[in-house]
This record gives sequence, structure tokens and C-alpha cells, in this order.
Amino acid sequence: MKTLLTEQAPGYYRHRMGDIVVTALNDGSLAKPAEILSGIDPAGAAAILRAEFRPETPVITVNAFLVQTPDLTVLIDAGCGTKMGPTVGRMAANLHAAGLDPAEIDLVLLTHPDHVNGLLTADGSPAFGHARIMAHAADAAFFLSEAAAARAPEPAKPVFAMARAALAPYGERFSTCEGGEVAPGITAVPLPGHSPGHCGFRVVGAGQSLLIWGDIVHVPDLQCRRPEVGLVFDDDPTLAAATRRQALTAAAEARELVAGMHLLFPGFAHVTAEGGAFRSVPLMWSALGAHHG
Ligand SMILES: [Zn+2]
Repeated sequence: MKTLLTEQAPGYYRHRMGDIVVTALNDGSLAKPAEILSGIDPAGAAAILRAEFRPETPVITVNAFLVQTPDLTVLIDAGCGTKMGPTVGRMAANLHAAGLDPAEIDLVLLTHPDHVNGLLTADGSPAFGHARIMAHAADAAFFLSEAAAARAPEPAKPVFAMARAALAPYGERFSTCEGGEVAPGITAVPLPGHSPGHCGFRVVGAGQSLLIWGDIVHVPDLQCRRPEVGLVFDDDPTLAAATRRQALTAAAEARELVAGMHLLFPGFAHVTAEGGAFRSVPLMWSALGAHHG
């Protein structure tokens, strides 16, 4: 009897932009009921996902991104850590497989404070011994506010507790930004709606531009076709949908490469616009980690 080999290759993928290297780090995936979607009924969502050869109820890929510049080692988002079940929490292992020790991370940028559990180890201590942590000021005010937590819809409440618990041990190493340059070659781009201070981070190097757009889509095969579809966790669903459409339109028009926390791994894609809908076109896998054209 032969032994079946079932373990995948480590979930990291490097994309090189001159002297900047951006590495996608897979954290796993979360299967969710269709009821987490807003703006579409479960049968409508299932029909689209079936047509796209995806599971008929949403499966949400989770990624983080490592950005290495000549000056800094930056992690963008921190994955789900150890508190969101066995199908996620692989980011730390994939960071290790990619050759990095958490102590080497200088700065963790948060697109919004719900990919934060990975800031903590299983025993609740800081996973990144030296890193500063940064999020948009509007999200810090929102997620760290008792009043906002009390007002939040029931399914969103755990996120508030999670964000506070994950940031507390970092104390004064946590600071906020308002958009603009946050590190050499990295700019925060406010993309509000999913949360008040939800941000993307634009990385520019060697004449290339990459927008790591956070949670612009959670179920890309569905939301590219139907950008009005959101998540019940969206803080402002109307603004989230408008931001999603605007980000998809801008990426298609500028032909800018995007990377997403919930784009299918390895999480880099271009966007095409077709009659009011969009398509994400995965970046061609390259053994050199380089992007041509
Ligand atoms: Zn997310």
C-alpha cells in the first residue's frame, strides 16, 4: 500500500518589485454560511459560486503580506492567530517557512483591526517582540471605543473584543496614521466602509505599483461579478459597496496590480472591467517572483 502524500507546499509566494519584495503569506481559509453576505440571497450567491466552480457557500481565503524594503521589514495584517479554529492560523508557520523570524518584523500595518489575532501567540503574549503596530486613526477610535462596541451589530461584537485584546499588550508600540506615507515606499490609502478607517497600502518599487487593498472583496468570484454584495459585518454597507466599486474600477483603469487579504492565494491579481462587472485575473506564478508586462 502506497502512502498518500497530502501536505501542501508552504503557503508563501514572493513578488519582487526591484529592491522591494512582497511575500504573500497564507493564513488558511474560513467556510461561512451564505447568511454572512448582504445584498444577495443565499440561492443567488450559490448560483454564481457554482457557475465559478467554487463551493456554493462562501469559503474565505485569508492572507497577510510581508513587505521587505532595504530599510524595513513590514507585515501587513497578522492573520487569525490561534483563536479562530483549525482552518486558519497558518500565517506564523508560513512566515517561518518564508525564512523570517517574527522578531525581525519592524512594523505591522493593519488594514483594519480584525485581522489581529495573529498579533498574539497562543498564550496571549505579543507575537512580534520588536514591531510597532499601526492602524488608521478612525479604526483605532472605533474598535477601541466601548460605546462603538455596544452599538455594533451582534455578529460584529466579537471583533471589538478581539481588537482590544490583541492591541493591549503592545501598549505604546501601537500608533495611528491618517493616510499618506507610513514607511519608505509604502502609502496608506483610506478605503472606508468595511470599517471606518479601513485602509489599503500602496507599495511602489522599480516603476511598479501594487495596492494591497485589504478587505475590498471577501468572496472575490462573487463580489467582482456583483460589487453591491457585501458582508453583514460591514460597518457602513453602502459606503463599503461604493468603495469596492471604485477600487475595482480604479484598478482596472490603471491596470494596477492588487493584492488582497481575501483574494485566492497567492493573493495577487489584476482586475478587468466588463459591462459593469469585474473579473480578477490571478498573477501568473513565476519561479523568479518577478512580474513582467
Ligand atoms: Zn478580512
